[in-house]
Amino acid sequence: MRRSTLMRALTQDGSAMIVAADSTQIVQTAHEIHGLSKTMTAALGRALTAVSMMGSLLKEEKQSVTLRFCGDGPAGTICCVSDWRGNVRGYADHPEAELPPNAKGKLDVGGAVGRGQMHVLRDLGLDMPYVGVASIVSGEIAEDVTNYFASSEQTPSVCALGVLVHPDFNCRAAGGFLVQLLPYADPAVVETIESNIGKIDSVSRMVDSGMTPQDIIDTVFAGLAYDTLDTAEIDYVCPCSRERYARALLSLGKEELQRLVNEDEPVETLCSFCGKKYVFGLDEVRAMLEKAK
Ligand SMILES: [Zn+2]
Repeated sequence: MRRSTLMRALTQDGSAMIVAADSTQIVQTAHEIHGLSKTMTAALGRALTAVSMMGSLLKEEKQSVTLRFCGDGPAGTICCVSDWRGNVRGYADHPEAELPPNAKGKLDVGGAVGRGQMHVLRDLGLDMPYVGVASIVSGEIAEDVTNYFASSEQTPSVCALGVLVHPDFNCRAAGGFLVQLLPYADPAVVETIESNIGKIDSVSRMVDSGMTPQDIIDTVFAGLAYDTLDTAEIDYVCPCSRERYARALLSLGKEELQRLVNEDEPVETLCSFCGKKYVFGLDEVRAMLEKAK
């Protein structure tokens, strides 16, 4: 399977920027790690694609963005994180959640997510992360991200996402684009982009037909002069490690560590993002308790 890629471009007059992604490989990896149902391959796949494109807009290394959907649907909470390059990881509370197709005969992502709030948390390396909140408008993810940027960040945007799932639940094609208008955007450019987007049937079909992020950008920015900013290969990456979990255990404090020691069993931690298990022996936990005291 081809590597997932992401490309960014800017119209030469500075009116609009775009990120386009082919995230097929990433969504397939998420499907394999979490054993996602058909509907959840689409739901988590769309959220991972969105957060990857949002991550690519970060300015500096070590910055990250978290996209979280706290809906009341059977999916439970969906949480996805991207680094500044667009490398992502994510999980859903209920990866097995499955729903009948919606009224349009499509995978019912909106029904799986439900209604509630979505959060965007940007860790820019400062003392406090920047947190934005918006209501979930449809649970279809793309519409929610578009609404989030308009209502919470006052940035006119269009987000489109698509995931095609094989009958065996594997990911067949996934991708998306995110267009953002810059201040003082030329109304004529905006009109051209709107008209181009209006002609697009489905972004997952575009990727499925072999279109690359470059081809997607050519379609959305058709008739406009633009410069490509960069292209990057992106992956499903989890930065977890035994050391990280050891630090997390230590940060529980002495009362909680004492409780774990009293249970007299090795402590098992499971990474929600990648499924890796880390086991800490009783001796290690006792040593942590000493340190905490
Ligand atoms: Zn992990």
